[in-house]
Amino acid sequence: MCKNAIVGYPRVGGQRELKFWTEDFLKGKLSAETLESNSRNLRKEQWQLLQQTGIDFIPSNDFSFYDGVLDTAYLLNVIPETYQKLELNGLETYFAMARGYQGKKGDAKALSMRKWFNTNYHYMVPVLDENTKIRLNGRKPLEQYNEALSLGIETVPVIIGPFTFLKLADIRGNAGREAFIQDIADAYAQIIQELGSLKCKWLQLDEPSLVTDLDQEDISLFTAIYTRLLGAGRTVKIKLQTYFGDIRDICSEVIKLGFDGIGLDFTEGKKNLELVQVNGFPKATLLFAGVVNGKNIWRNNYEKTLLLLRQLEEKAERDRIVISTSCSLLHVPYTLDSESSMDGKYKQHLAFAQEKLEELRELRELFSGSAYSSNEIYLRNNLLLKSKQEFSNESIKAKISELKEEDFIRNPAFEVREKLQKEKLKLPVLPTTTIGSFPQTAPVKACRASYRKKEISTEEYKAFIRQKISECIALQEEIGLDVLVHGEFERNDMVEHFGENLEGCLFTEKGWVQSYGTRCVKPPVIWNDIKRRKPITVEYSKYARSLTSKPVKGMLTGPVTILNWSFPREDVSNREMALQLALAIREEVMELEAAGIGIIQIDEAALKEKLPLRRADWEQDYLDWAIPAFRLTHSGVSAQTQIHTHMCYSEFEDIVGYIDAMDADVISFEASRSNLSIIDALNKAGFKTEVGPGVYDIHSPRIPHRKEIVEALGLMLEKIKAEKLWVNPDCGLKTRGEPETVESLKNLVAAAKELRNSL
Ligand code: GLN
Ligand code: ZN
Repeated sequence: MCKNAIVGYPRVGGQRELKFWTEDFLKGKLSAETLESNSRNLRKEQWQLLQQTGIDFIPSNDFSFYDGVLDTAYLLNVIPETYQKLELNGLETYFAMARGYQGKKGDAKALSMRKWFNTNYHYMVPVLDENTKIRLNGRKPLEQYNEALSLGIETVPVIIGPFTFLKLADIRGNAGREAFIQDIADAYAQIIQELGSLKCKWLQLDEPSLVTDLDQEDISLFTAIYTRLLGAGRTVKIKLQTYFGDIRDICSEVIKLGFDGIGLDFTEGKKNLELVQVNGFPKATLLFAGVVNGKNIWRNNYEKTLLLLRQLEEKAERDRIVISTSCSLLHVPYTLDSESSMDGKYKQHLAFAQEKLEELRELRELFSGSAYSSNEIYLRNNLLLKSKQEFSNESIKAKISELKEEDFIRNPAFEVREKLQKEKLKLPVLPTTTIGSFPQTAPVKACRASYRKKEISTEEYKAFIRQKISECIALQEEIGLDVLVHGEFERNDMVEHFGENLEGCLFTEKGWVQSYGTRCVKPPVIWNDIKRRKPITVEYSKYARSLTSKPVKGMLTGPVTILNWSFPREDVSNREMALQLALAIREEVMELEAAGIGIIQIDEAALKEKLPLRRADWEQDYLDWAIPAFRLTHSGVSAQTQIHTHMCYSEFEDIVGYIDAMDADVISFEASRSNLSIIDALNKAGFKTEVGPGVYDIHSPRIPHRKEIVEALGLMLEKIKAEKLWVNPDCGLKTRGEPETVESLKNLVAAAKELRNSL
């Protein structure tokens, strides 16, 4: 019988327990001991579930209080001096790195956060400099291995591999990557040796960086480290785990190195099958075949999967193939069991993490047997997949096929619009604004929840939201912001809110997926062709506008972001889905404009998220439809209407030209946690769009000082003309508390005023 495995399991808990414990701990409402013991129970439940479902290779150490890369940094003693100087205890230091610290012992910003490859998960970026001394600092993988073992469960500890760790780290100062190779290899060698003394059988090292474009230097680095780690005297077997793509640049080296197991992704790894076919597969190595999609939620197609496994079998014998997930199940929700109100007709087509375990069990059974095509499980799966009716909506399809080139072009040209808009809006230089959402306090969340549970009437709910909007407008006027927002109190989430009002999207009750730290999102499922059911934002935007003489920005989510933050269909192309969404958002844009909203922000927070990991695929597989989809949303508005967009990151240096080609009038983006090299890239490319690089970090409760913001703006003004610069935070304020928000924004406005006077 062949075996099965998973790359990792979600960790926040099916009811997001870990989120609430951690948040309580951070607020001082829960002791560290209780946080630890609750987490231990959660791990136990999950391991037992994996054991009961018959998973042969059960991961451990995939648990994290905040993020696995941060755990690895901490484990390797990659703790910048800023945090060491605070002299906090271990757990406090860890959280200071994650969230920043402001208190009796000092003031430190959080580490920066970046998107984890092409997912909506974020990792904390490790910082290495001349003072970094890599060595083992802690025993988490060993402890968690032992913890499972004491429950009678043999597990495979999972750690981010040394190559990916170095690739993702921010290496500062004069220290080059080379300076750390010896120490990092020593540290991993020590882990391997210590796991060996615990009689641990397998260690999984995650090396997703292997699926990106690699140069010779990368290949040498990888080879050097692993030649050392795979050397003699080792009792622990090592599994190299890759995901999110194929390993075309390094496959032949990987195969020669002598890994005991290699995990390949056969869902996103376009070339992995071919690579195995061409290069063969080493005799003594297990092939962990990632055939169950860890990123999407559709039922596995057993016919296709078994065909693929058959092809692999020609190169690696059946009992050396381990049926696995394509990546960690971290990226899908826990279980459909929690979806009590979802209609069975939809549910039967979906598989969340727990259901995927079942699929792995069934696939193992089918693949191990001889005549699977007459097996009842196989036939049932076949029938089910065929039963997914064709949902196409001919009128939407027709609209898309009728789109002409001019539908993607906004007239007049940017320069003309810019002038007209300045005349109309009469904003001061360095206009201040926010990204849209204001703090979602407990009463706001409670009100939305009781409305959802039908405990209050629509009238009561609307009255509450209106009340919040009017408070928010008054607050922004008091703070002195120039362009106001309504605050987004009606939105649980920027994608879900739109999806709920679009035909063709499906919603879950508990379908949470971790986005960063304690923050989870609930991606909609794109089930069918998309159509706007009714106006989504017009009523509240109009109301907000009626309360003030200042301009109020309408606030929408863009088509690419809705698509990227949903679970997409697999039966139509991304382009088709993006254009359908774009047409729906376009209707909303036109209605906001007609309602007198003169500034409309169309957020593309996730535009870059699914940019292919390899450069060669950027244009033909992504930007060729993503940028046009955005342009389609706003090409119909008048010259005076100012279109803003927002992105949650500033790492678009490589695609600056495409961002400019979105043809928005203003773009705001995250910048406070990164260095400002993006601005040089903008200048170099002759970027025309006005910019609002975030002046403070909203992911942390820390309040930025006015002076700090003045400094940040000063640096920006050295590179950007004042007429092109906007002043705003990094992102929306929904996750922040009220008092810190008010104070931060007051500092922001004061800083802008100070600079205006000095211009
Ligand atoms: N308008 C949204 C907000 O302010 C944008 C959020 C985001 O970029 N993630 O919350
Ligand atoms: Zn953002």
